[in-house]
Amino acid sequence: MEHGAAPEPEHAVEPADAAGEVTGSFARETDAFIAEADARLAAIEAAIAAVDDGSYGRCEICGNPVEAPRLAARLSERRCAAHDRAPLAEPRLF
Ligand SMILES: [Zn+2]
Repeated sequence: MEHGAAPEPEHAVEPADAAGEVTGSFARETDAFIAEADARLAAIEAAIAAVDDGSYGRCEICGNPVEAPRLAARLSERRCAAHDRAPLAEPRLF
């Protein structure tokens, strides 16, 4: 009786540890997803603002029109092909 009566602490702790690891990983993935979504939303809002002020589709460096295929590939593209190699002011995610 006495031999099997005491609960083994390891069995009580392990599931909680495993759940904690999953929760931590899930939380990190969720944070990363939200950060990316926020960045995409900011890019969309910047593109809408550019449409409003008439600068949409113009290279932010030279002011020339951004080539149509570049805009088709990335609607928030802000640079023409000639200036695409220049360092970007912000990440382009959309
Ligand atoms: Zn340019």
